[in-house]
Amino acid sequence: MKQGAAVLIVGAGIAGCSAAIALADKGFRVTLIEKQAEWRFQSSGIFIYSNGLEALRRVGVLPRILEAGFAIEDGRNVYLDHLGAPIVDVFYPRSSGGAAPIVGIKRAEMHRVLAARLDALGVEILLATTVAKIDAPAGGDHAEVTLSDGGTRRFDLVVGADGIRSQVREAVTGPVAPRYTGFGVWRSVHERPRAFDAKVMMMGIGKRLGIMPISDDRLYIFGTVGEPADRWYPKDSWPRQMRERFAEFGGPARQFLDQIGADSEVLYTAVEEVQAPLPWHAGRVLLIGDAAHASTPFMGQGGAMAVEDAVVLADMLARHGIADATLRAFGERRYPMCRFVQDASRKVGEAGALEDAESCARRNAAMRSGAQQQVDAFYGQLQALHMPECT
Ligand SMILES: Cc1cc2nc3c(=O)[nH]c(=O)nc-3n(C[C@H](O)[C@H](O)[C@H](O)COP(=O)(O)OP(=O)(O)OC[C@H]3O[C@@H](n4cnc5c(N)ncnc54)[C@H](O)[C@@H]3O)c2cc1C
Repeated sequence: MKQGAAVLIVGAGIAGCSAAIALADKGFRVTLIEKQAEWRFQSSGIFIYSNGLEALRRVGVLPRILEAGFAIEDGRNVYLDHLGAPIVDVFYPRSSGGAAPIVGIKRAEMHRVLAARLDALGVEILLATTVAKIDAPAGGDHAEVTLSDGGTRRFDLVVGADGIRSQVREAVTGPVAPRYTGFGVWRSVHERPRAFDAKVMMMGIGKRLGIMPISDDRLYIFGTVGEPADRWYPKDSWPRQMRERFAEFGGPARQFLDQIGADSEVLYTAVEEVQAPLPWHAGRVLLIGDAAHASTPFMGQGGAMAVEDAVVLADMLARHGIADATLRAFGERRYPMCRFVQDASRKVGEAGALEDAESCARRNAAMRSGAQQQVDAFYGQLQALHMPECT
């Protein structure tokens, strides 16, 4: 193995930070570049299921994530209809290593934890920096990269972890545009009432509204709803729009929807998907995370897939060195898992889009008898496709 090889990681999101940590931990010389000028990440919440938490354990940050976030120790997900009437309770599994079934955390907190670990490992981080040019010929053993500061540097590997609108992707797969999925996601952060300690999913007609604790004193709500393509909403209208979209929701969501005012922290995202075909590398440039396989958020697995990519990549490179065969094998290993998650998630979204009042009654009845089985089958399949033990 070529320890001490130089790796450039483009993008300091979940994938890039995790890969930088996992690779630095194994002795690679890592440079992490991020186009944002400040360490500032969208600050609503994210929830990570047990497979993602297991990967975060391998990255060495799980205890800090658990301290900063909120774990649902029994894995309970309460399904209600949009007025708050119970449908069914479903339980998500712990990982085989014992990680909690689900943890909610503020995204900014997750990045604070990742940044502390990067700091401890002495990873070189360049903010306000991107790539101007990558020269990585097929069959070569390095990449010459011109950074946006004008300097040219030589790396043994460039990892494109630059998200759904990846600039690096073009150099690997040629043009692969994100595909709009027909959905938007609205999110807002609130004070957490003490008694609120479960993940709740409220099932409307073609709409979902989730409630998830993200710390001792905060929770966030997130709603998915069909939105026309290319519809742009001015930011200052987001609080009003979110309230209007979910106006028919009652039950536990009502108090939080009522709290949303003009100054509330509300975020809107039009959901897109990326399916970069294999190979996920060209020469010494490789894609990970959303740059390769951005998914709709219905299974809440995009972050977990990003961290797993990082752990598997670091393990494979440490074992087998940076070589074309290793990069190819990485893509072939991760593609089935990421594709499975994307397909399952897309199906959930598409089924929701076809709903009417009558079909929702049937849906709720089917959930009562089959929702737990579906969760078990999904996690069974994740387990079957799981990354092997890493050293
Ligand atoms: C609405 C929504 C809700 C979601 N909820 C969940 C959830 O609850 N649980 C979950 O597991 N997943 C969730 N996901 C998915 C998850 O957010 C993503 O899969 C995950 O953030 C991907 O991480 P990434 O590092 O690959 O990409 P990103 O998080 O997009 O990070 C990419 C980084 O690269 C930087 N960058 C971009 N271009 C360049 C460039 N040219 N040069 C340098 N830097 C660059 C960006 O500034 C950014 O910091 C959700 C997604 C959406 C859209």
